[in-house]
Amino acid sequence: MTDAPHIPVRVRPEIAALPPYKQGKQAGADAFKLSSNENPFDPLPGVVEAVQAATALNRYPDASAARLRERLAARYDVTSDEVHVAAGSVSILAQLVLATAGPGDEVVYAWRSFEAYPWLAVVAGATPVQVPLTADARHDLAAMAAAVTDRTRAIIVCSPNNPTGPIVTQDEFDAFADAVPADVLVILDEAYAEFVTDPAAVDGLREPGGPTRPNVVVLRTFSKAYGLAGLRVGYAVGHTRILDAARSTGIPLSVTAQGEEAALASLDHDDELLERVRVIAERRDRLAAGLREAGWRVPEAQGNFVWLPAGDESLTVAAAFDAGGLIVRPFAGDGVRISVGEEESVEKVLGIAASVVTDLPEGHSGRGLA
Ligand SMILES: *Cc1c(COP(=O)(O)O)cnc(C)c1O
Repeated sequence: MTDAPHIPVRVRPEIAALPPYKQGKQAGADAFKLSSNENPFDPLPGVVEAVQAATALNRYPDASAARLRERLAARYDVTSDEVHVAAGSVSILAQLVLATAGPGDEVVYAWRSFEAYPWLAVVAGATPVQVPLTADARHDLAAMAAAVTDRTRAIIVCSPNNPTGPIVTQDEFDAFADAVPADVLVILDEAYAEFVTDPAAVDGLREPGGPTRPNVVVLRTFSKAYGLAGLRVGYAVGHTRILDAARSTGIPLSVTAQGEEAALASLDHDDELLERVRVIAERRDRLAAGLREAGWRVPEAQGNFVWLPAGDESLTVAAAFDAGGLIVRPFAGDGVRISVGEEESVEKVLGIAASVVTDLPEGHSGRGLA
């Protein structure tokens, strides 16, 4: 086909203005892929077998993933209507934003945060409202509460924050949720909850019975700690009426039987899950400490990734990692996110990071005070 810049099909102008989705680079044979916060471990025991046993490929899956919802409901002591399962928690984010916000409405979130947030708001036809992170890369919840207007329909809080790493504390979140009007949906995106080691961190599912405030929905995923990114399973816990609205906007039958079986099998192996999460968190702490020692100003890291605030140098810094066989994720003008991967990648990350930090100009914000 010719690459005609002007085609007669009318695309919504705000959609035409979006940059097309680009995935993190795929790694070559001997490179480490540290660009998508994936889990370096194999699936938990029994998972591959469960997927292989789900052979009825000619049949549609169970549209509501009822068995998985029941299983999660028992875990959190809620009803299965208070659990919603979809093809990744990104799908649930999209459903919740579509269900609450349309043209003229506002969706508030911190920035920089998860790249999907602005895109989800725009696709819904709503207006994204970005509230800058603090100087130490944390959510500024007071500023986010102050950004709420009559038009605000949804607020997204990401803890730990992707890509910068810090958590929101339980106290901060509670005060924030108290300050937000009860008719505004608060989405607590906890994609990395399992990696958190700071006991002060918010945990939306700490109390049995689900979120205590009816306008709060908690999102979790099997993609990160459980290592099932390729099978696309995420879930939400919250008020039935809100989740019903999300179910109404979702595309039916998106969760495959293989995904549901894999998630169910994974839930049978809490001990192994906790063990590998412990290994990744320890690796992360070692990585963050080594980077700080090398002179980088690394913010608190509570997910399975670390953040280098490389600012204007981000693309150059990422290229240096790339040249050394490490695929990392640069965010131009802001920083570089490096996922915690295989053990053998740690020394390589630290080696390259130590050499590039010395190339940063004097007084660069990526440099630590040490
Ligand atoms: C990875 C991620 C998700 C979810 O990913 P899915 O694979 O769609 O479940 C959600 N939120 C954040 C902040 C993430 O980083």
